[in-house]
Amino acid sequence: MNKQYVSEPVEPNVEAKIEIMRGMLRKLDQELGRLESLFDERYARDDLTGLLRRNAFQIRSENLFSRCRETGANHGLLLLDLDHFKKLNDSFGHHAGDHLLKNIGQLLRSYESPDCVVCRFGGEEFALAVRGNPAQIAEEIRKEVQRLAIEAPFSCTASIGMKLSNGTETTEDLLRAADQALYRAKDLGRNRVEAA
Ligand code: GH3
Ligand code: MG
Ligand code: MG
Repeated sequence: MNKQYVSEPVEPNVEAKIEIMRGMLRKLDQELGRLESLFDERYARDDLTGLLRRNAFQIRSENLFSRCRETGANHGLLLLDLDHFKKLNDSFGHHAGDHLLKNIGQLLRSYESPDCVVCRFGGEEFALAVRGNPAQIAEEIRKEVQRLAIEAPFSCTASIGMKLSNGTETTEDLLRAADQALYRAKDLGRNRVEAA
């Protein structure tokens, strides 16, 4: 018995169609990336200062620190608190306080990099997760805030608590230790960096 061959219906211009679909996928990919960073900007950042919010900071600092632990890179955490900020609000009004927080936000945003995650931790407190030399950055920021204090009509200084990691602590451990160091910086007269 003769075999019967049934020919498949051939889709015309298949290659051209595949190329068009690939182009559409690439565009969708780009659009997805654009929407993701828009979402990030809208929900991960604090409106007043433009800095990351605390929850986004926790995720990103955790990522940075785990890469530091893998590679053995020096790292640490800084907690910065503005000095006598309430007094500034009370003397010049909430708008003056907001204005200063905005300026501090701008200053701290200039420290954002693949080696440094920065956030508004709460009210007039900020946190930085640093790969490299946290002590140098802490002292630099303290001086910069002091310089703002000299230039601006509404101003204050900053106290900073610092915890350098020994490579074994969790981010929570580092935060707790930096917080204790910050209390000491306040007790010792403010406008200073104290290491845990
Ligand atoms: P210390 O040097 O001990 O840190 O004193 P402090 O006055 O900075 O600390 P305290 O915790 O007593 O006051 C913090 C103030 O920060 C009180 C609160 O009204 C103010 N604050 C928090 N968030 C904002 C904000 O978004 N805008 C303004 N203008 N003020 C804020
Ligand atoms: Mg505070
Ligand atoms: Mg304060």
